[in-house]
Amino acid sequence: MARMTLKERYHHMTRLGWQPTYQPMEKVYPQATYEGIKVRNWDDWEDPFRMTMEAYWKYQGEKERKLYAIMDSFAQNNGHLNLSDARYVNALKLFLQGVTPLEYQAHRGFARQARQFPGEGASVACHMQSLDELRHTQTQIHTLSHYNKYFDGFHDFTRWHDRVWYLSVPKSFFDDASTAGPFEFIVSVGFSFEFVLTNLLFVPFMSGAAYNGDMSTVTFGFSAQSDESRHMTLGLQAVKFMLEQHEDNVPIVQQWIDKWLWRGYRVLSLVAAMQDYMLPESPMSWKEAWEIYFEENGGALFQDLERYGIRMPDYAPICAAEKDHLSHQVWGILYNHTAAAAFHTWVPDERKMDWLSAKYPDTFDKYYRPRLEYWRELEQKGERYYSQTLPLICQTCQIPMGFTEVANGDPMQVAYRSTEYNGDRYHFCSDPCQAIFEREPEKFVHAWLPPQQIFQGNCGGASLEDVLKWYNIQPGDNLDYAGSPDEQRWLEWKGLAAAREAAE
Ligand code: FE
Ligand code: ZN
Repeated sequence: MARMTLKERYHHMTRLGWQPTYQPMEKVYPQATYEGIKVRNWDDWEDPFRMTMEAYWKYQGEKERKLYAIMDSFAQNNGHLNLSDARYVNALKLFLQGVTPLEYQAHRGFARQARQFPGEGASVACHMQSLDELRHTQTQIHTLSHYNKYFDGFHDFTRWHDRVWYLSVPKSFFDDASTAGPFEFIVSVGFSFEFVLTNLLFVPFMSGAAYNGDMSTVTFGFSAQSDESRHMTLGLQAVKFMLEQHEDNVPIVQQWIDKWLWRGYRVLSLVAAMQDYMLPESPMSWKEAWEIYFEENGGALFQDLERYGIRMPDYAPICAAEKDHLSHQVWGILYNHTAAAAFHTWVPDERKMDWLSAKYPDTFDKYYRPRLEYWRELEQKGERYYSQTLPLICQTCQIPMGFTEVANGDPMQVAYRSTEYNGDRYHFCSDPCQAIFEREPEKFVHAWLPPQQIFQGNCGGASLEDVLKWYNIQPGDNLDYAGSPDEQRWLEWKGLAAAREAAE
């Protein structure tokens, strides 16, 4: 081994050269062909990182050591007291409830693909990513466990991810990906999410953490991001491999890219609301992030892929049209339904509203500020609005019908589409969600839709109280930030409670 070059050594350690003799390849790799992807030669697969398992453990172990040292010092120094404001912690709740379980799903998904890809290069890369994703799950849970000691909304995130309405949005994204074949999975998670959209998830959370004094989250963010270059390379490599192997693969891959850009974008609308409304100090707006990370960086990527016959995803113009509206509309949905959520919402203060006006000069003052001011008026009269009904949600993305006909020039009209299939009517938030359903109706009719499940009696009962019990959302987890135990504790820690009383 010592005399081999790095390349030889890598090849030696990752290529079994296994040729099955007593079973045909189709039985050993039963999922490799049914999606229609044609592979001429798996040996064309390039492993850009050529990392051996030995090096991998050593490198990751070193990162863990540093991360846990910082987490310890954060806990010992009561780092949460240095946050900009306790409202910020709601971004972490959303992360732990909505994103960390996806890391675990990614872990399982890549483990399965490691088994299903007949090529050993692809298999090894998926195997390493699977281990990375498990590590991300663990480090995120460990980092955020500190907050569970001091704030509500952290104590039962796995149950919430499986049951609670707004979390079925990210969950359904991964359920869809995980029940696809190996090639679609790698386009959905490895390419569309990891390569095209990952910055739109991680930058708002991590620079948001930095701006709001949360150094432990910044650290797990960096620790995960350092694996990201490998993940992004795998996603791009997988797509290029499919495109180079056979021209018949091009339209299949294009269709997946179209679908998964849209599905990822709809999941990110939760991040948009978090980024623009939950962060007391905002590094950048959703609109700015979309312009930098999708329109500029993604634009360059799709130009590069043109030579393979791939074009910009179909639905990109709709995303562009919506960028001035998305976060405001989703914050509206969350604000209305916080009685059944495990985080807090609020009407932003004047300083934040001015920031939103500056970032969204064409839309905020015209459409969204008046609505927030109206909600604030109700609040001041002691009539804080909480929706008393279950929303109609989209069969594909599972978000309540709160998006409007922005792309068709009518931002005040709620967008609504429906399709009849096998005698039942299905509802959609948008043209892309409808088109995705119509391509694979047999898949999406099985979607587990929270309002329907509640109406069918599968969620503990018919009243909000019954459902909250089934969710295990406890008093303090839900409702407005104003008057919450989180707020109360924060004011006490900061000595502001006394000052405020004195002022009154
Ligand atoms: Fe990850
Ligand atoms: Zn939808």
